[in-house]
Amino acid sequence: MKKVPVQIRPFRRTRYAYQRLRVCKNCHNFTVLWEKECLNCGRSSFIPVDTMALRLTKRSMQTERLIALFLTLAGVLFSTTFEQIAICLGSGIVLTLLLWLVQRQMTLSEAPRQLHKWFEKEQQRLIDGLRLNIEAAIGIRQQDERLAYEMLREIGTLVNSDRNRLQQISLLRNFVLRRDMDLQLESLLLFDFDEGLAEYIGEIARIKPELIKERTLLYVLDHEPEFLSMANGREILAAIVGAIVRMKRYVTLYPEFTRRYARFLPKDRFLRLFRIVTADDPHLQFSNLATEVAEIYNAKYQWDPDFHQSAQSTGQQR
Ligand SMILES: [Zn+2]
Repeated sequence: MKKVPVQIRPFRRTRYAYQRLRVCKNCHNFTVLWEKECLNCGRSSFIPVDTMALRLTKRSMQTERLIALFLTLAGVLFSTTFEQIAICLGSGIVLTLLLWLVQRQMTLSEAPRQLHKWFEKEQQRLIDGLRLNIEAAIGIRQQDERLAYEMLREIGTLVNSDRNRLQQISLLRNFVLRRDMDLQLESLLLFDFDEGLAEYIGEIARIKPELIKERTLLYVLDHEPEFLSMANGREILAAIVGAIVRMKRYVTLYPEFTRRYARFLPKDRFLRLFRIVTADDPHLQFSNLATEVAEIYNAKYQWDPDFHQSAQSTGQQR
């Protein structure tokens, strides 16, 4: 299968996932995508949920002030003397003003609470909106795979589903991936083993090794036999070990895993591992990994000047 070169838009990051949502002012349909016209009612009147939260807060505060004024008026109506009227009116107005001052201070801290309440009330609309988003992404897939991927990636920030992840993975596998792309790995990890994901991890290990972190390593360790059952499984695992030797921490955490694939590393990766293992570290010095590294060194690199330089320079540093 031929892979296509694409230009993937960088991923927009927000503090909270819900901040990616917009809501239609007209029909209260939600969307996590960037369309102009509402998929539900066709009008173009989306506003960000943050703005909506502020509006809701202001509206509920306005209601509170109206109640305070209403109570004041009721007091005035039931008063029998002029003195009572003056006291009711005066204290009512002062209290309403105070309420208004307090509310002004609280607007920003109150907004998240209002939003939470509102989300609870609108839960079904939110689910329906995201379902429309998913349908739109699946619908566009035949014509524009890149756009479909970007849409699914956006939906994936709010919809926790392995099906969505599998669709993203299968699209990514059709693209020529490059180091300069804003690629993701941890958000695509599945619970079960999947060959497409395994291939993708292998590709990431080669082009963007810094994305291989703890969670990915745990997935790989959980499914190591399944990786090995693939035709190129051993190469994928060797690429992953090649990626983790960037960090001494990972080698120290997973010495046995590193040992199993050390002899399949290309020279530059093995040199990196060699330097980590031969540096003074009580955890690694007498480990099986150290023995394995020494064996590989003796068999393949004993006469290689690069290795001698490294031994000398680490020796000088000490
Ligand atoms: Zn609408």
